[in-house]
Amino acid sequence: MNTNSETQAAHLKKEILIRIVKAFNSNDFEKNTRLIPFDMRPKGSEVPFRCCIYKERAILKDRTIAGLGFAIEDDDERKSLTEYANEALQRDAIDEKPLTVLDAACKGCVPSRVFVTDLCQGCVARPCTTTCKFGAISIKDNRSVIDGSKCKSCKMCISACPYNAIVQIKVPCEDSCPVGAITKNEHGLAEIDFEKCISCGKCVSACPFGAVHEKSQIIDIMKNLKSEKKVIAMIAPSIAGQFPGTMGQLKSAMIKAGFSDVYEVAQGADITTQNEANEFAEKLEENAEFMTTSCCAGYNELVKKHIPEILPFKSGTGTPLYYTAEIVKQDYPDALTVFVSPCVAKRKEGMYNEKVDFVMNYEELGALLIGSKIEITACDESTFVTESSKQARNFGVTGGVAAAVTAASNSPEKIKQCLINGLNKQTIRDLKKMAKTGKCDCGNLVEVMCCEGGCMGGNATINSKKTAFKKLAEYTNLGKDIQPNK
Ligand code: SF4
Ligand code: SF4
Repeated sequence: MNTNSETQAAHLKKEILIRIVKAFNSNDFEKNTRLIPFDMRPKGSEVPFRCCIYKERAILKDRTIAGLGFAIEDDDERKSLTEYANEALQRDAIDEKPLTVLDAACKGCVPSRVFVTDLCQGCVARPCTTTCKFGAISIKDNRSVIDGSKCKSCKMCISACPYNAIVQIKVPCEDSCPVGAITKNEHGLAEIDFEKCISCGKCVSACPFGAVHEKSQIIDIMKNLKSEKKVIAMIAPSIAGQFPGTMGQLKSAMIKAGFSDVYEVAQGADITTQNEANEFAEKLEENAEFMTTSCCAGYNELVKKHIPEILPFKSGTGTPLYYTAEIVKQDYPDALTVFVSPCVAKRKEGMYNEKVDFVMNYEELGALLIGSKIEITACDESTFVTESSKQARNFGVTGGVAAAVTAASNSPEKIKQCLINGLNKQTIRDLKKMAKTGKCDCGNLVEVMCCEGGCMGGNATINSKKTAFKKLAEYTNLGKDIQPNK
């Protein structure tokens, strides 16, 4: 699968966000927002993705609505982008559901089914018909045909066909969701069940139509950046791999964009590490078989909604964001805080935390800087007041949390790390088994990361994975080692 940064859908999303920022910075936000679909697809222009220019503009309108922070599910088609832009300026908060599905974009995706392709030779043996236990396959005009009302998607016919003529068409979002929270409804539209959704963002990355969107708070943030209020940014550790230039230059660029100060969430990760190392030492003294870490917001949602029985084995230590937001609110009691995050799960975590006022993801921060004509590499170096450790800087990489806790432990020889690198149906089954049996076969410190690669694989990351990992490693190596707990 392509990474988020490499798809055309991601480019479109980025372009819309940049145009929203430019419209906000112009002298007529409402009018310029209304014009976004027309400016992107002017009369007579090429229609790269859809049947006609009107459909393209309708989808671009939906993308703009999501970029303004509204749910497409609530859209009244008669409402103009001017009205949405105005409402975005007036509102105090957006609703809690972090995702929305663009129905006009989603309709293009066919429902999941087993399908006979043109490779069918109408052979004499017809093993597909005899293999199907449900009588779903018949022959018409010398071709195999599947009756969808009888087919149970058991896939026996797929294995039976000697020409590989039968395939299963999957719905990418449904297929990627580890908890069955997104499904196509009878109108062919994907719907998210937020009671089940753990905000892992996998559907956002998987949808080839870019139909699943994070609802953006970019307008709410820019409104406050332009006001008299102090706005403090807290940047997640994985950001070090995402943007050009150094972390010091990124801080300067963000201050140019209107933030009063920028804190690294890695600062909080150092506190998480020390506390989690102490907690694990206590658990080992109580003869606990294993402990799972608590940093990944998607895993925390999974436990809450789907595996509550694993709670006694999960660390109760606060996340890096939790401690960072506490520090920022102590240092700047009257300021607003913005968490800059790599994924939907952390957006959700920020929304739950009363010390976090807004969340923006890396795509949105990139759009804010580009749309405001701020070049990171042209900015001066700034420093961070508290220097985070090497291990804390590496929290966003699979294995980073477990390595940090081990480094901070006063008895590292007792720790056997077990890494769950990405939540999927199988790893969720493994976690359920651990909860049921109270045992973990692969180790005693179980780090769970929702995304493969850790936060570096989050749905809102913007750099190619290879470059991002290299850049992050360079920054990590500049840090000092964390000291073991006394
Ligand atoms: S992958 Fe899911 S959200 Fe995307 S177009 Fe298909 S059904 Fe819709
Ligand atoms: S965010 Fe994750 S849990 Fe929620 S619907 Fe998408 S894939 Fe499923």
